[in-house]
Amino acid sequence: MDIFLTFDYELFFGEVSGSVDKCMLEPAEELIRLTEKHNIKLTFFWDVGHYVALKEKSEHHSTLLNDKEKIENQIRKLTELGHDVQLHIHPHWEKAEFVEGAWKMNLEKHYKFSDFNKEERISIFRKYYQTLTEVIGKNTSAFRAGGWCIQPFAHFKSLFQEHNIRFDSSTMPGVKWISDQYQLDFTRLQSSEPFRFSSDECEEDDNGEFMEYPIASTYYSPWFFWKLYVLGRLFPEKHKMWGDGNFVAQPGGKKESLTKGKIHHASSDGYFASQLQHILNLKKNLGNSTLVVIGHPKSLTRYSLGKLDEFIAQNKADNCFKTFQDLP
Ligand SMILES: [Zn+2]
Repeated sequence: MDIFLTFDYELFFGEVSGSVDKCMLEPAEELIRLTEKHNIKLTFFWDVGHYVALKEKSEHHSTLLNDKEKIENQIRKLTELGHDVQLHIHPHWEKAEFVEGAWKMNLEKHYKFSDFNKEERISIFRKYYQTLTEVIGKNTSAFRAGGWCIQPFAHFKSLFQEHNIRFDSSTMPGVKWISDQYQLDFTRLQSSEPFRFSSDECEEDDNGEFMEYPIASTYYSPWFFWKLYVLGRLFPEKHKMWGDGNFVAQPGGKKESLTKGKIHHASSDGYFASQLQHILNLKKNLGNSTLVVIGHPKSLTRYSLGKLDEFIAQNKADNCFKTFQDLP
């Protein structure tokens, strides 16, 4: 099995966005240490819009200049160590303001790519791609949409072609979230095996020029979510997230999770990391070839770091931990 451990490298987008040190730098250093122990590489989908905003606003705010330089240094370090840094676009940064030492995100009207007009979309994609390649000193080939909002793919197709982006990893089979911010429906996807596509990220096309690498997903029971919330309360030192911000509310939040459970991505975040081995085993039983896992440095916990360590140790001999830059 090919296993892709991917991490969206970003701040929080809720009321409190958190600090660069706690949400990005420190947990990413923990991940670097872990990969050195096991000699594997990770993929980081970098929220470049944040960096662009830091660049544009750092003239008036010295703390932002500091953040910008720290991120730049870590991204270069990750690249030098052989980790894969790929494009992740959260376009809301275009409308974000830095007021009295805090980010104001304005997510109501401008969260996802489709909230922007065509001209803005082209300019955002070009600017972020160019910034990314300037920092890491090479071209990239993979993409993950901010908030998984890759729909409609028509908004991305010509931009993928223009920048030679061949791999997308924004989908999660069976997941559907519709809310003020989110607009995604991946219920047509039955499997998380990679496939070729041309114009629709949920429809296979053997002659398609792009490859979709869905993030694996599975059903998590209410029992799982009860444990998640209770363990967090009982053992905060193990289960407290590294990041010091808070999330944008996801549709069908806590109540639905605790009563019905839900289909959610395979994740190395917090308590979700406890299910990684189970998900891998399920996929092996299905005869699958690939597992894509999503995580976020900001959501790393002592517990998840330990589980990730176990997961890699247990599976590295019989599987191949890959990154998108390894793909032909
Ligand atoms: Zn993101």
